[in-house]
Amino acid sequence: MGRITLEKVEKRFGDVEVIPPLDLTIEDGEFVVFVGPSGCGKSTLLRLIAGLEDVSGGEIRIDGEPATDLPPAKRRLAMVFQSYALYPHMSVRKNIAFPMKMAKVPEDEQKRRIDNAARALNLTDYLDRRPGQLSGGQRQRVAIGRAIVREPAAFLFDEPLSNLDAALRVGMRLEISELHSRLETTMVYVTHDQVEAMTMADKIVVLRAGNIEQVGSPLELYRQPRNLFVAGFIGSPK
Ligand code: ADP
Ligand code: MG
Repeated sequence: MGRITLEKVEKRFGDVEVIPPLDLTIEDGEFVVFVGPSGCGKSTLLRLIAGLEDVSGGEIRIDGEPATDLPPAKRRLAMVFQSYALYPHMSVRKNIAFPMKMAKVPEDEQKRRIDNAARALNLTDYLDRRPGQLSGGQRQRVAIGRAIVREPAAFLFDEPLSNLDAALRVGMRLEISELHSRLETTMVYVTHDQVEAMTMADKIVVLRAGNIEQVGSPLELYRQPRNLFVAGFIGSPK
């Protein structure tokens, strides 16, 4: 299960209100993309969901249970960082195992999950290499593998492909979409790239200065943008 609800969630840094109170529901199994220009609060909103930032007000629920005061490790959510967040001195296997070690998952269960993740991500032949011996795409898959083995209720991605060159980005986009179809787990994906949003999302959340301008499927936003900002950002004909 992975239904996430935000009720009047807001965030201030000092006197600056970065996220005014907002409501949002992310359904179980949905691929939701937060899109908007740089500085509009996408990362902050994702970090509030992950528990990496405390809310200034409001309530976050995961599968109906209050999660607002839970530390990140207790939220059953896995944040996928950019591939440079891998440990360079550890093998792929150890990088993937790391969160399970922290969570004290038994060794044989660790092995089972690593094998499953490696199969799902085509990394079986690379488990004994170090990140420096992998391509950019493979490193990104290791970062995803590290999230998969936690068997989270939802995956949270913050611009995971922004380090990769254009050609690789297209491939990884397809891989993440395919992974979503296969796992059927909720994914929340942050990007400033309209094409990524329009091609990957079940539901797009368009943000401007911390406000939700519109929520809808790619087709809904394309056909019925609520205002000029959304139309301009999504590239609608209006
Ligand atoms: P995005 O991910 O959409 O580019 P962010 O969520 O990173 O935007 O930032 C939204 C706004 O919040 C920006 O104006 C940024 O400067 C501000 N901000 C983010 N983190 C902090 C922080 N820790 N302290 C103060 N201001 C912050
Ligand atoms: Mg950001």
